[in-house]
Amino acid sequence: MKTLFERSVSGRRCSILPACDVPACAPEQTREKQLRLPELSETDISRHYTELAKQTFGVNDGFYPLGSCTMKYNPKINETAAGLPGFTDVHPTQDDAQGSMELLAEAEKKLCEITGMDAMTFQPAAGAHGELTGLMLIKRYHELHGNTERNVIIVPDSAHGTNPASSAMCGFKVVNIPSAPDGCVDLEKLKEACGSDTAGLMLTNPNTLGIFDKNIKEITRIVHDAGGLCYYDGANLNAVMGIVRPGDMGFDCIHLNLHKSFSTPHGGGGPGSGPVGCKSFLEPYLPDAKIVCENGKYAWQARGEESIGAMRSFHGNFLVVVKAFTYLTMLGREGVPEVARNAVLNANYLKHLLEGTYETATEGTCMHEFVLTLESLKKENGVSAMDIAKALQDCGIHPPTMYFPLNVHEALMVEPTETESKETLDNAAKAFLDVYAKALEDPEYMHHTPYNSPISRPDEVTAARHPVLRCQIDD
Ligand SMILES: *Cc1c(COP(=O)(O)O)cnc(C)c1O
Repeated sequence: MKTLFERSVSGRRCSILPACDVPACAPEQTREKQLRLPELSETDISRHYTELAKQTFGVNDGFYPLGSCTMKYNPKINETAAGLPGFTDVHPTQDDAQGSMELLAEAEKKLCEITGMDAMTFQPAAGAHGELTGLMLIKRYHELHGNTERNVIIVPDSAHGTNPASSAMCGFKVVNIPSAPDGCVDLEKLKEACGSDTAGLMLTNPNTLGIFDKNIKEITRIVHDAGGLCYYDGANLNAVMGIVRPGDMGFDCIHLNLHKSFSTPHGGGGPGSGPVGCKSFLEPYLPDAKIVCENGKYAWQARGEESIGAMRSFHGNFLVVVKAFTYLTMLGREGVPEVARNAVLNANYLKHLLEGTYETATEGTCMHEFVLTLESLKKENGVSAMDIAKALQDCGIHPPTMYFPLNVHEALMVEPTETESKETLDNAAKAFLDVYAKALEDPEYMHHTPYNSPISRPDEVTAARHPVLRCQIDD
């Protein structure tokens, strides 16, 4: 499609700006060269953006089973609440914004209750940013306890890629441990990896295979006995929220992805929110500042010298917290566990419909997501997980997460979420099965899917290594 600059016609205008009613600026303040702007009518602009919108795919367009990302429907009331002028017009340096401060304090209370933590910061802007924050708490703890030799973070091979990346960024060495054949942490390997250099463990439970680790309390005990701390990657909280609490599983700190589990929009680069919760012994190290309430009045209080310092300006993406708070308030105490139960039910229902045709990476019931392996199809027919994922696009379905987790070959990771109906899941299952049948019948057809999308098979390596993010215009 054409860019706005290519659509531009010299002299064309849309008359939405009133005539200038203030003195024009002095000549020395004006640009030497005319700024190049596209010249368009309102119709041109409106059609341009509608065309762009049609080329994207979001939760409002259709089924979006992107594993690990929890692409649930975001209730519109969240947007209404976040659009209230009392929230949008407040400035972060206004330290008397009692309503906004109360909301942050209440959101902290609710999320601490759900996670089993004692305190929380809303500064981090995303999950990975929260990981860095949590790891810095762990690092600070060891520094202040004279544990200078503790510089290793243990990460299972099923971990999200951000876990080892955040650990390395925080200055830790990363030790990977392989999973046991059942997809859980291999306790013997964990014991071998633990030692006097262990700073901590990073784990998500349920893990990226959609399995709740049956030994979870044993795992955190082994790490604690070795003198390490336990970090919970909360991205998969949708499976367990309101039912079990990471704090009770033995974890010391956690990040949440409000833009996953708590129904704030994501994709397209943000804004997100990755609050970090911790047990009280880590609280002094949290970023500034803390909200306190005395005689019904809220105030900010500096955390003092032990704090790791600011992770971001002011209080993070405040309006994202407003959306998540609205979501939690609408759900109420009974609604939160119901989300988790339905997320797990939906995943198992879809898994059940696909089993027998598709091979799953693990047996038995899953939590909120499951992983398919196309390894034998690839070997026998040459049709890859990529081909299947691309073919699903022609059925109006966003592809599942591909080639992740890394310990499963030709993986497709499917997370339907609780907000999809039985009809949607039935239709999705039919599409998955049709695509599989097509793969057996005509592998060549599959290599060129999708046929109906604006872009078919981009060169992903070049796109990642040499991104062209702006259109090149000659002046
Ligand atoms: C999404 C995700 C992350 C990273 O969160 P971002 O908000 O994308 O930075 C970390 N771990 C897991 C398991 C995830 O699914």
